[in-house]
Amino acid sequence: MFFLEDIRYLVTIRCFQCGEKFILRGKRTEKGQYETGFKRCVCGNESSLHIDATPEK
Ligand SMILES: [Zn+2]
Repeated sequence: MFFLEDIRYLVTIRCFQCGEKFILRGKRTEKGQYETGFKRCVCGNESSLHIDATPEK
């Protein structure tokens, strides 16, 4: 079977607190979030983030 949900995303996470940028690969979860394994920024911030995702080709 083929699932559209199996697409992998390139997820860009930018920290509003220190401006650090992370680029990770992830999948979309059932809840509509991105599963990247990202926990928190190097500055300790884990809630004030800008998340942007594009499907990987
Ligand atoms: Zn930060």
